[in-house]
Amino acid sequence: MEKFDSEKLRGILEGLPQDVIEYVRMVAEKSQSKEDFLRMIFVGDCPKCNSRNSVQCDEVIGIDNPTLGLCVDCGFVWCLECGAQLDPDHWPEKEIRCGHWEICDACEWIQPHLGTCQIPPWECGKILKWLNENNLLSYVSEGKCANVCAWCERKIPEDSEVYGLGVKIKKEGQLRGKEGQVISWPLVKLNRVIPATVTSANSWAKRAGNDLMFMTCSKKCADALKNAIKREGAFVDRIIPN
Ligand SMILES: [Zn+2]
Ligand SMILES: [Zn+2]
Ligand SMILES: [Zn+2]
Ligand SMILES: [Zn+2]
Repeated sequence: MEKFDSEKLRGILEGLPQDVIEYVRMVAEKSQSKEDFLRMIFVGDCPKCNSRNSVQCDEVIGIDNPTLGLCVDCGFVWCLECGAQLDPDHWPEKEIRCGHWEICDACEWIQPHLGTCQIPPWECGKILKWLNENNLLSYVSEGKCANVCAWCERKIPEDSEVYGLGVKIKKEGQLRGKEGQVISWPLVKLNRVIPATVTSANSWAKRAGNDLMFMTCSKKCADALKNAIKREGAFVDRIIPN
């Protein structure tokens, strides 16, 4: 299968934020085919088991919903619009549709001629409240481990320096009971989940105000990650470089 050609890539990338450009380049390097590249850009790996065997649900007979990602290996489903990590318990009865659509259907700011309110789901306060109340953004990862760079995914050798990035989030309630564990934190704008450690109550990291810690392998990766998290915005209260 043909590789994604870099000339074409350059055209697409023009004008995008630096961390997005870096991420797309990284994906282009890692992907094994054009299909794999598109899968990584539009769907990402499974938040639950980190399998690369994921598809967009418009390719799935019986679901046919392009706004959902599905893991072919473990059956996990997640929303590509708002980042919700959907346990089967959260699926509505009749069709597999993310619960955020109900909030959008009832939105008081719908512009009649457009049919939507034009606020991206990830930036909508009502949807964020729903995500938070239902604990839909912090699945305990079964795949990625803590000694992998959260940005470039390379293994960080044991004796080398680690560049940490701490984040205080606006609603830490959803992290309760996950202290000390590695969760899959969504970067919704990149269709990507990355490993984050939930700080435990008595750790220095928590005392310094961090709810989540991201580990990276270099200053470069830490900077790219910081910019990506900044652009996600909504859930992040402040970013604390270490
Ligand atoms: Zn999976
Ligand atoms: Zn959703
Ligand atoms: Zn709305
Ligand atoms: Zn790295």
